[in-house]
Amino acid sequence: MGGANTRLTILNPGNPTGLKFSVEHGEARCLFDFGLEHAPGRAPFSLGLTPRPGRELEDLLAVGSAPALDGVYARDGWDGRTEVFISHLHLDHTSLVRFLHPDVPLHYPAGMEELRQAAETSGYLPWRSPAGAGVADRQSVRVGEIEVRFVAVDHDLPGASGFLVTTPDLSIAYTGDLRRHGLHPEVTDAFAREVKGVDVLLQEGVMLGYVAPDPAPVERTEAEAIAEIQRLIGEARGLVVVNVYGMNRERVAGVAAGSQAAGRRFSMESRMGALAGWPEVIPDPAEIAAAPSSHCLQLGFESLRSLIDMRPPAGSTWIQGGGPPMGPFDPGWPVLESWLQALRMDLQIVSCSGHSRPRDIEHIVAAVGPRVVVPVHSRAPQALQVPGVPALVPVPLVPYTRENLLAASGSATS
Ligand SMILES: [Zn+2]
Ligand SMILES: [Zn+2]
Repeated sequence: MGGANTRLTILNPGNPTGLKFSVEHGEARCLFDFGLEHAPGRAPFSLGLTPRPGRELEDLLAVGSAPALDGVYARDGWDGRTEVFISHLHLDHTSLVRFLHPDVPLHYPAGMEELRQAAETSGYLPWRSPAGAGVADRQSVRVGEIEVRFVAVDHDLPGASGFLVTTPDLSIAYTGDLRRHGLHPEVTDAFAREVKGVDVLLQEGVMLGYVAPDPAPVERTEAEAIAEIQRLIGEARGLVVVNVYGMNRERVAGVAAGSQAAGRRFSMESRMGALAGWPEVIPDPAEIAAAPSSHCLQLGFESLRSLIDMRPPAGSTWIQGGGPPMGPFDPGWPVLESWLQALRMDLQIVSCSGHSRPRDIEHIVAAVGPRVVVPVHSRAPQALQVPGVPALVPVPLVPYTRENLLAASGSATS
């Protein structure tokens, strides 16, 4: 071990989003994920308040939305020892990447490169220049004595990865964001097999402690959600609007197929279409108003006003299918409802989370069988309780050594 101890530090536990952590060994430091918390109505910069132009990073640092770190930000220069790893493109894992110094080595899954380029060139997600390097699934990057292996998981966008981090005295698996009810559950299960028996598992727990609203929405797999959206499009009268998130390319492809089957032309807002890889842009509002039942549109919350000119007939359908607002906890939700009421459109909600359900979290943790599990990315980390696997709810900004981490398992010295 050369006397060096590995230190795991949770910079932001991501409760519920914005998880960031570092793994250090000797001089080497690896930083995992670099996004911003998405918490409308609760985060300092939300509800229309945005960092001031020209001093964005300073503003984000001032309110604690960006972590205070030396040696990574463009304004500071690179410390020569820190490398950054990104698990997938969602904004709560990437929004701060644009502030990295150009010299900081940046690694991300090769499978997300096409989506990343689309997000950058469309202006949806500003990125750092140079962009960094895509790493193929099952390939490793070495930083000093730390080895970081990319291991694919199934989430709700292309190119999501978890990591297996190995140092001379500790092995850590990080799930990234993952689920078992998507179109590729075998990818998530293969991740669990690949990292089986690690010392420490950092497990995403977005759905832990989730309390369903009353009445509870139907719990669907991704395949069932796509089928339900297609059924709704097929049965709808008047105009159909689907609020779907462009990064979920599989769901967008399902919406497009459902539109085609129903004889409707599917078109998207230009940025969302760029993310989705869908070329048809929403035509002139007058064209839609003239033949509403020939169209199916993707529209987001910010575009509700454009419906005024499209004049959807009463009884037209708005399918809330994955775009924000994500639920009644979002202050935008009642605003959406008031618009649809005013336009006499029917609201249909088809939800399917990109995150593991609590029983699947338990399944994954049991399958991996770590010596200790550390719940992260969760409103209710203490709810992670798997028989036979001790859990450690981490204290942010405290560096944990192997001994600290494995104390919970009662076998730190072996
Ligand atoms: Zn995600
Ligand atoms: Zn996330």
